Amino acid sequence: MKCTRCRAKAEVHLRAHNAGFCRPCYLGFFRRQVERAIAAECMCTPEERVLVAVSGGKDSLALWDVLLDLGYRATGLYLAQGIGGYSTRSQEKVEAFARARGLTLRIVELGMEGPGLAVPDVAAVTRRSACSACGMLKRHFFDEAAIAGEFDVLATGHNLDDEAARLLGNVLRWQVDHLARQRPVLPPTHPKFVRKVKPLHLLSEYETAVYAFMRGIDYVVEECPNAAGATQLVYKDALNRLEAASPGTKLAFMREFLRTGQRAFAGRPAEAQGAPQTCTRCGMPAWGEVCAFCKLVAEVESKRARAVTGPAA
Ligand code: SF4
Ligand code: ZN
Repeated sequence: MKCTRCRAKAEVHLRAHNAGFCRPCYLGFFRRQVERAIAAECMCTPEERVLVAVSGGKDSLALWDVLLDLGYRATGLYLAQGIGGYSTRSQEKVEAFARARGLTLRIVELGMEGPGLAVPDVAAVTRRSACSACGMLKRHFFDEAAIAGEFDVLATGHNLDDEAARLLGNVLRWQVDHLARQRPVLPPTHPKFVRKVKPLHLLSEYETAVYAFMRGIDYVVEECPNAAGATQLVYKDALNRLEAASPGTKLAFMREFLRTGQRAFAGRPAEAQGAPQTCTRCGMPAWGEVCAFCKLVAEVESKRARAVTGPAA
């Protein structure tokens, strides 16, 4: 196959776009897709300071790389979750990426925060699933790091596969409040929130992997051990089958939802619940007097104390 742009030998074939690209043209294609997504959704400007949440995986490192390449002022944020060897290896990849390029990287060590909040410990003591604890901690520390560092924007590496699987899950259960908020840009609804953006939301996992490979990005290939059995993987698998039978399905599903379907859910009462209040303990946004994070910390502290002293007589 020949490159659709320059007619050289193609290295990658994108069935969803009915196109083939040689290496330089593919890198140009990928950058343009990101540039277009940023411009179409007014995600950020070159003057703004962007905090990129990096996990050590291909998507977030590719996002950091492409944002810098496009001239954005992007700083990395890594959350050390304390998930055994997986976290150790992920952190090594992120640190090596930043070191090799002379980039600023911020690291939040969950085990050193509050009463000690490593994901497996929080999950065990509160009997939550690791992903539920992790999700809550991520939200809090991403928001906190963005506001503490005076960033304008928080960017995450969610790709088309992630977003389409999330959309499928939301549609299958008709979670209208989730559908109302499923957008690639979330404007801040509280002074302690910054704008949240997903510049890779229309680029597939495969396209991001090819970009990372061509750019020589060394990323952690293994999945988080807690991801096994997640429902999202079932949705991804279903979408991959649909995509194989009809290339372009995922892109159309996502794009048309954003273009036409999403507005049917936006502005519904669930979304019109207004702006969050302010947590009386930590000052971060809260739905109620105390935020979910402070409630979690209080639960961890009281359950640990009970484990030491034994149940009250
Ligand atoms: Fe966190 Fe679960 Fe994702 Fe692992 S799979 S990083 S525990 S949300
Ligand atoms: Zn709080």
